[in-house]
Amino acid sequence: MTQVPGSWRRAAAGARLLGADGEVAPTIFAEMSALAGRTGAINLGQGFPDDEGPAEVLEAARRAIADGQNQYPPGRGTPDLRAAIAEHQERFYGLSWDPGSEILVTAGATEALTASLLALLEPGDEVVVFEPFYDSYAAAIALAGARLVPVRLRWPGFQPDPEELAAAVTDRTRAILVNDPHNPTGTMFTAEVRSLVVELAERHDALIITDEVYEHLAFARAHSPIAAIPGARDRTISISSGGKTFRTTGWKIGWLTAPAELVTAILTVKQYLTYVNGSPFQPAIAAGLRLPDAFFDELALDMRAKSEALGRGLDAAGFAVSRPAGTYFTVADAASLGYDDAAEFCRALPGLAGVVGVPLSAFVTAEHHDEYRSLVRFAACKRIGMLEEAAGRLAQLAGVTR
Ligand SMILES: *Cc1c(COP(=O)(O)O)cnc(C)c1O
Repeated sequence: MTQVPGSWRRAAAGARLLGADGEVAPTIFAEMSALAGRTGAINLGQGFPDDEGPAEVLEAARRAIADGQNQYPPGRGTPDLRAAIAEHQERFYGLSWDPGSEILVTAGATEALTASLLALLEPGDEVVVFEPFYDSYAAAIALAGARLVPVRLRWPGFQPDPEELAAAVTDRTRAILVNDPHNPTGTMFTAEVRSLVVELAERHDALIITDEVYEHLAFARAHSPIAAIPGARDRTISISSGGKTFRTTGWKIGWLTAPAELVTAILTVKQYLTYVNGSPFQPAIAAGLRLPDAFFDELALDMRAKSEALGRGLDAAGFAVSRPAGTYFTVADAASLGYDDAAEFCRALPGLAGVVGVPLSAFVTAEHHDEYRSLVRFAACKRIGMLEEAAGRLAQLAGVTR
């Protein structure tokens, strides 16, 4: 465990990244992955794929290295990748962005999010975030000295209550952060919710920051970005990344699209975070974004098949299951098996069934732990044979209710 100095400690404590003793708390993801390693359990905890991405994409990276694309790329990203991002936005969403001024390549979606929040928030600003949420949001908001205002997504549908959402957005709100399709719940927001976000942002003059890293892993219906809603484009920063779509989570090539003034503001922060990254991976992600429609269609169908295989195992085990509309993830309720504490259940699960999941409480503010206490997130981004094996193991849980 590592002691953390002064200002970082304050920010991290604000985000509850530190234990009461001021130590860096090991994340539940690290703990559960270590548990999977020790016990040989199938790791459905952390969300990384166990098979390779498209051959064309991998080959393009090898070629770029061989061709000597190994030095700093331009600060905004290679012109070719920015062009590919613009083409992709136009092809799938009918949105047009100027590659010269309205697109920024980042070190993953994570840097796009952090740089946006650090650039655009003033200390004391509020950011409305749907809870549960991806763990980096709270940390970046705390580092910016801003305040996270959670709007709860409730089991089993995980859509926000429109009145709660409307009440959370005020003139103090600087940004509404929307992750759709949503990790960890697998939900996709309804058209009504998305329109309400835009209406509220307009009424209170707030920005909208979207995290769309699962845009091509939507299988209930096609993903529909908030920036495409009339009135949204001028106040929205849309963020995505190649990691989930092309199964290259270790490459960390992300991007954002936004009006030019916002991109410039974010660039001023981004250039002192990483400056640039991933030279040879930028042409490779450009190649990926230009793959034919069939690739993206098959990706969504494959994700649906995997998600359904996991769902069958969870059903057979006796869990109540929230059916995802997209993403790698499915949430199940361990209370159906007699466990009201998901963290305890997840620690026992490798012994009970040889499978690892993560408690949803890892994605919520401390105040709301209890509401998510019995819920578990399982990841279905594994090979289908592995998922069927996991499903079979989970099915053995049937009848072991305590
Ligand atoms: C994986 C993930 C990210 C991180 O994306 P990178 O491109 O690896 O930085 C961001 N948001 C959500 C919701 C994710 O699941």
